[in-house]
Amino acid sequence: MTRTPAYAAQAADKPLGPHAIERRAPGAHDVAIDILYCGVCHSDLHTARNEWKNTMYPCVPGHEIVGRVTAVGKDVKGFKVGDTVGVGCMVDSCGHCASCKDGEENYCENGFTATYNGPVFGGENTYGGYSANIVVNEKFVLHISHKDNLAAVAPLLCAGITTWSPLRHWHAGPGKKVGIVGLGGLGHMGVKLARAMGAHVVLFTTSPNKIADGKRLGADEVVISKDPEQMKQHAGSFDFILNTVAAPHDLDAFLNLLKRDGTLCLVGAPATPHPSPQVFSLIFKRRALAGSLIGGIRETQEMLDFCAEHGIVSDIEMIAMRDINDAYERMLKSDVKYRFVIDMQTLKDEAKAA
Ligand code: NAP
Ligand code: ZN
Repeated sequence: MTRTPAYAAQAADKPLGPHAIERRAPGAHDVAIDILYCGVCHSDLHTARNEWKNTMYPCVPGHEIVGRVTAVGKDVKGFKVGDTVGVGCMVDSCGHCASCKDGEENYCENGFTATYNGPVFGGENTYGGYSANIVVNEKFVLHISHKDNLAAVAPLLCAGITTWSPLRHWHAGPGKKVGIVGLGGLGHMGVKLARAMGAHVVLFTTSPNKIADGKRLGADEVVISKDPEQMKQHAGSFDFILNTVAAPHDLDAFLNLLKRDGTLCLVGAPATPHPSPQVFSLIFKRRALAGSLIGGIRETQEMLDFCAEHGIVSDIEMIAMRDINDAYERMLKSDVKYRFVIDMQTLKDEAKAA
């Protein structure tokens, strides 16, 4: 076991602060990773504050991890010491259910083990990337082939794959009109990826001060979603809309923008439910309301390789570990361009000084 510096929430109403955790010694199939950077996902905040009512404390969030391999178990085939690697939202799954066999471990029927807060159906706690190092089974470790700007690669491990997977599943590409709702961590990756896939991309934002950024990031058009006149101009015209909003809101406004057989896919996971959409918004054009959860390991590697090839990374604001509580407050105000990433050297330095 290795004693490892980390930052944890000890209760829903407490700020995160320094906390030591134990990491296991690498087993035969494990990879030990020195964490360089960890992105800050809105799910970290939902979990640290027990907004989904399933948090185990102490809670060490963080599932957008980039680091360097420091040791490998004797049976590890795919990684060697010194490799640059990533870890996303999962560190294990049952490996034998239909979803795992299909390479969709994110839909493991027995519940994958989340990188933090443990197995999704309950079980022993796990501690995430707000820490100096982590030990993960090689099946859940990703190869990073980006050569530089590694801090900006970290958010691909959750924000990237969570938008990539549904965009692929619903065939975003040339000739398709695709909407992205919300320009936050997920949304800005959705805009970049949908654009790179060749779709016509429309960003929906509640923040008029994000119009220029939306276009710079790759949106062909930007719509202020609170303006009914602007929304009306796009009625019945979308093939697919990906909704990343982290708060409950009216879904009919977006369903009514879909063409016949179009899909509105939710990836945002607010603490309280959206008002139920109207049946009429669905039946008139055989529209579908769907959801999507992160992505499997194989498609996460595909996404990382695609991003390396196309020079795609996240737009980030680097923070020190001790600034995490301020970062959460700013995220709640949609005041981040467009993902906070923690420089983990700041945690290591802080632990050394203590
Ligand atoms: P984020 O950076 O905070 O972005 C959310 C964006 O939603 C904001 O930037 C804002 O964009 C918009 N928004 C916020 N409050 C709103 C409101 N009241 N009404 C309308 N729009 C609002 O969060 P994130 O990290 O991208 O995560 C977004 C959500 O996805 C979270 O709930 C998170 O837990 C969830 N998530 C789900 C998965 C999955 O697998 N399904 C994976 C990761 C995260 P504008 O300023 O442009 O309006
Ligand atoms: Zn996330």
